[in-house]
Amino acid sequence: MSQQDDLQQGAQYQTHCNNSVAKAYLYIVATPIGNMGDITARAIETLKQVDIIACEDTRTSGKLLSNFGISTQTWAYHEHNSEIQTPKIIEMIQRGHSVALISDAGTPLISDPGYQLVQSAHTAGVGVVPVVGASAAIAALSVAGLPSDKFCFVGFLPAKTHGRVKQLEQYADRTETLIFYEAPHRILVSLKDMANVFGDNRPATLCRELTKTFETVKKSTLGELVQFVESDNNQQKGEIVLVIGGDVNNDSDDNSIHDKLLLRLIEDLSVKKAAALASDITGVKKNALYQRLLELQKTE
Ligand code: SAM
Repeated sequence: MSQQDDLQQGAQYQTHCNNSVAKAYLYIVATPIGNMGDITARAIETLKQVDIIACEDTRTSGKLLSNFGISTQTWAYHEHNSEIQTPKIIEMIQRGHSVALISDAGTPLISDPGYQLVQSAHTAGVGVVPVVGASAAIAALSVAGLPSDKFCFVGFLPAKTHGRVKQLEQYADRTETLIFYEAPHRILVSLKDMANVFGDNRPATLCRELTKTFETVKKSTLGELVQFVESDNNQQKGEIVLVIGGDVNNDSDDNSIHDKLLLRLIEDLSVKKAAALASDITGVKKNALYQRLLELQKTE
């Protein structure tokens, strides 16, 4: 895109913000994930000009807004009041007002509230405008040093071990890079579960406190990251994204041989024993083969 095109887009955006027809939009505005310098000029301008800012937490966003001299009226919009607030916000926009949605940090809807509102806006024929900026997932991917051509954003894993391991098993043989959000008090147990399910040698990058004072980007393997986090309590603090390399050994020819082997073994053995023996023969993780066998049995 040429600079001229950029300027024209900017001009069109100004028209959006200033003329009365274009006022009736829902703006999805990204805010910084730590460093206040990462807010965009367009985000500040939009937040100043809209009639209402819907915030995940009005107190948290209050600090950000006052930092940038934004005095626009705020409404609370979070997962516990979204059913009541969604129709109110849509009605406001239909009456000609403009509303911006922000979350506590980063891009709304990315592991944050807003899906119901955006979906309802589309249903009601209300225009939705992205005012782009930071998101921890993309920031982490950009520095992780892992393949970035194809990736899968998983977000938060279940808090309990059983659910977490079950979900990880579903991603064990995915070939694309995986992105997880994790809470600091669960980082160690999650890393241990990942090492068990994906294998100690799977490449992984821990991205902690991005754009903040204690920013840490550690590229290693899952096995080594477990030791790194276990031996330093500071690594169990702050905000964390885990970027995990895909299963590069997941070759489709190999997989079809594994399927044949599993189907033969299941004729004589239980699912558990068939998976264990196939794992001994192929070197593939037992859990992955166990899950694959369950899938094969469903389709048989
Ligand atoms: N909507 C946000 C976004 O676009 O990134 C994410 C919100 S989600 C509720 C919060 C999680 O994002 C944190 O628990 C952490 O996993 C990740 N996160 C947010 N800020 C981060 C930062 N500065 N460094 C690393 N991870 C961060």
